[in-house]
Amino acid sequence: MRKGSQLVVDLNILGENYSKVKDLAPNSDVLFMVKADAYGHGLVPVSSYAHKELGIKDFGCASVGEAMALRSQLKDEKFEIYVFSDTQLELTEFSQYYVNHRVKPVLKTLQDLDFFLNCDDFKFFPICLKFNTGMNRLGIDFDKREQVIDLLKKHGRSEVHHLMTHFACASQSMNKNKRNIKAREEFNILKEDFRNAGISVEYTSIANSGAIEQKVGLDESHIRPGLMMYGPSSLNPGLEQLSHYNGRLISRLETYVINTFEVEQGQPIGYGATPVPHAGVVAVIALGYGDGFPTRFRGAKLRFQEEIGVVSGRVNMDMSSVLFDKNSKIKGGDKFTVWDQDTEFYKQLCTHAQSIPYEIFCQITPRVPRIYSLK
Ligand SMILES: *Cc1c(COP(=O)(O)O)cnc(C)c1O
Repeated sequence: MRKGSQLVVDLNILGENYSKVKDLAPNSDVLFMVKADAYGHGLVPVSSYAHKELGIKDFGCASVGEAMALRSQLKDEKFEIYVFSDTQLELTEFSQYYVNHRVKPVLKTLQDLDFFLNCDDFKFFPICLKFNTGMNRLGIDFDKREQVIDLLKKHGRSEVHHLMTHFACASQSMNKNKRNIKAREEFNILKEDFRNAGISVEYTSIANSGAIEQKVGLDESHIRPGLMMYGPSSLNPGLEQLSHYNGRLISRLETYVINTFEVEQGQPIGYGATPVPHAGVVAVIALGYGDGFPTRFRGAKLRFQEEIGVVSGRVNMDMSSVLFDKNSKIKGGDKFTVWDQDTEFYKQLCTHAQSIPYEIFCQITPRVPRIYSLK
């Protein structure tokens, strides 16, 4: 564990972002995606705030383990949990867990559905179906919809609780990208076919952050935002003008300067003895790849007050070197902020690392304590 290097999560900003999401989609309920430890920000504190303070009633996990953590740690709360990808229905302990703890598995293959319908535990349990409309990962094939309808009828089930699909290219244009257009068309056909077959559909959802930002999929009963709730836009660099969303990062990655020293141009620093490109002051900060500060941050520009420094030499497991100009005021013990609420700065950092905002959040390791601030 670190002290002095921390991810400070400002839950008030989560509230701000949620209001902005609701402004975009006033008629939809939010199914908040909190998989992967709430995108690295802490599953339980984030979900707890979202439920108790913001009134969010639906949460999305990826695995049963995540759902168990949420249910067991927020015991008295009444909210719904969906498990999306890693449902493992066939494990008896899990099928019973779903039923006994009101956790809803999203069925994403025909085998899943078949198993579910034949399992006594699920006899009266709500059916959540995810269809593949071009994502080609998980999801029941669009072409198998008749089979699905027949199966449901055969088992006397005339209601689907939540019908979903997922966009493969929501970080691209909703109106120009052919896959996005096709997914919307197929989802409309799905809803219609279910209706025509006499199967009622209680809830529907299609939109993840990229779609919500582009105001697509907002007339379904639910939207499923993940990334945008944590601040960043999900749109690819260069497509910012398509977004109607302007969130702020809910987290700040803070560390401190362990030591500073002066260098001459060409002087080697650290592992691999990388020569520095110019004379200046090197600040050694208490974050390395062991904290989820990736080696690909090498060359990235970081800010210290009014100054700009560059991550220089190799990023180490426990620390990194940031090169500043000769007359820099930085000194040992100074607080150093890698990213703050500025989403643009964060996105540039991710682009520099040839990564995406999702990954940089998720890879912050448990060595970095998450600290929750509420003003
Ligand atoms: C992760 C996920 C989302 C949220 O995606 P973002 O791009 O983070 O908004 C929505 N739906 C499903 C099925 C997901 O797996």
